[in-house]
Amino acid sequence: MKKYDVVIIGSGPGGYVGAIRCAQLGMKTALIEKYSTLGGTCLNVGCIPSKALLDSSEHYHQAKHDFTEHGIELKDLKVNFKQMIQRKRGVVEQTVGGIDFLMKKNKVDVYQGMGSFESANVIAIDNDKNEKIEAKNVIIATGSKPGSLPFIKLDKERIITSTEALELEELPKKMIVIGGGVIGLELGSVYARLGTEVSVVEYMDRIIPTMDATMSKELLKSMKKLGVKFYTSHKVKEVSRKGKEVTVKADDKKGAEVVLQADYCLVSVGRIPYTDKLGLDKAGVKTDDRGRVEVNENLQTNVPNIYAIGDVVKGAMLAHKAEEEGTYVAEFINGEKPHIDYNLIPGVVYTWPEVASVGKTEEELKATKVEYKVGSFPFKASGRARASMDTDGVVKILADKRSDEVLGVHICGPRAADMIAEAVVAMEFRATAEDIARISHAHPTFTESIREAALGATGNRAIHI
Ligand code: FAD
Ligand code: NAD
Repeated sequence: MKKYDVVIIGSGPGGYVGAIRCAQLGMKTALIEKYSTLGGTCLNVGCIPSKALLDSSEHYHQAKHDFTEHGIELKDLKVNFKQMIQRKRGVVEQTVGGIDFLMKKNKVDVYQGMGSFESANVIAIDNDKNEKIEAKNVIIATGSKPGSLPFIKLDKERIITSTEALELEELPKKMIVIGGGVIGLELGSVYARLGTEVSVVEYMDRIIPTMDATMSKELLKSMKKLGVKFYTSHKVKEVSRKGKEVTVKADDKKGAEVVLQADYCLVSVGRIPYTDKLGLDKAGVKTDDRGRVEVNENLQTNVPNIYAIGDVVKGAMLAHKAEEEGTYVAEFINGEKPHIDYNLIPGVVYTWPEVASVGKTEEELKATKVEYKVGSFPFKASGRARASMDTDGVVKILADKRSDEVLGVHICGPRAADMIAEAVVAMEFRATAEDIARISHAHPTFTESIREAALGATGNRAIHI
């Protein structure tokens, strides 16, 4: 039986990054992946393909709606949806191919097949060879799969999850999206931009309900402009399909029924940890009441040589969170003292405008009775935003009332996903709003709006409003 210092089960951003870091630190490392391509949800059916379609659809939408104003006339503009999906496949292929290269470069042994525990140190791989390998340490990085509601039968043709929504063969005429969270709004945007009539049914009273409420409000305004219809505070009670038609019934708070019909229904009500056929019981690894692998502050399970990271454990289901945890565990096994500040892991919604946040929301500060100041700056007051016709949205900075330390930054606006990095760096160094306000920001850039919001937080000193 081949012996390894570390065996990692699952090759998503948690698993493959952990494998590279283990190998860099000189540990003999194996990576097991049940699918034929590496990269997990993120590279194959998540972050990368969704962003490819978001970019393509945004180009089309701009060409259709904004180009004339820019003075660019186009005739016979149309969507070649098959080509759009084909391009997305190409982006995925290239990206997953890159992970193969990285595994070879770092001398990580890759095994294809379902991995499962025989014991705390022996992993069986379900493939033609039915191999078994021995591990001093194991990292569970098996990720998550789409969740659903108990009464919904996902047929994966018309009643679909994000995985199928990234691979449709035709452009839907109408799409009902159940769940106004990240997946629903990103993929809802893709189809709305391409001309599909999209309706979003959300159980809570606002979309992206875990983010700062100002962000929900701003994004709602922009997505309504895109033509998306919203049914917030609606509880879905029935989803049925007859031929090519899907019917969704939901009740509002007062019990009034709304009946929606469409040719596709995307179910995006959250994802659930994936531990099927992993044989956790054979290793004695415990899970919590939500099926997540239980870990301590060092991402160690109740079995000391077994660790777990990424979507399969508690915390935000984000690729960069999984990556941080992969690195953390590799370094911890190597006897180092790594650190992750979960408060400073940014969250991004890749709609247009994008939404990006780090730190505390205003609602969280209120709930914990922290005294704070707010500075905000609308993109409509930014010259850069006007030049690119991206005037929707706002930057909001929350700072401690007494110390002026930045506690949260929330941006709904153009390139918010990239701009949030400035806030993360500032908060890592425990900057005050005054610090950000005194840093020179190039003109004209979208980032000037962050400085203006910081000036606002330091005491109404914003220049351009
Ligand atoms: P995963 O990426 O889920 O990888 C787990 C891997 O383990 C899978 O390849 C699986 O096949 C394999 N596996 C499972 N069990 C076994 C087994 N027993 N044996 C062998 N292999 C096994 N996050 C972001 O940060 N930014 C985004 O823009 C973003 N966009 C997303 C868009 C969509 C549509 C979706 C669905 C998700 C998106 N996410 C995004 C979330 C992100 O994909 C996940 O947080 C991330 O992939 C989690 O990484 P992971 O390594 O924990 O698990
Ligand atoms: P989510 O948790 O973001 O959103 C689910 C939404 O569904 C919530 O708003 C919730 O209130 C709503 N909901 C739940 N039950 C409902 C019901 N019965 N009826 C109507 N609405 C209901 O989950 P998601 O959008 O499925 O995404 C799953 C995970 O994938 C998320 O944790 C997210 O972090 C990750 N992801 C991240 C990105 C990104 O970083 N850009 C993109 C896509 C997915």
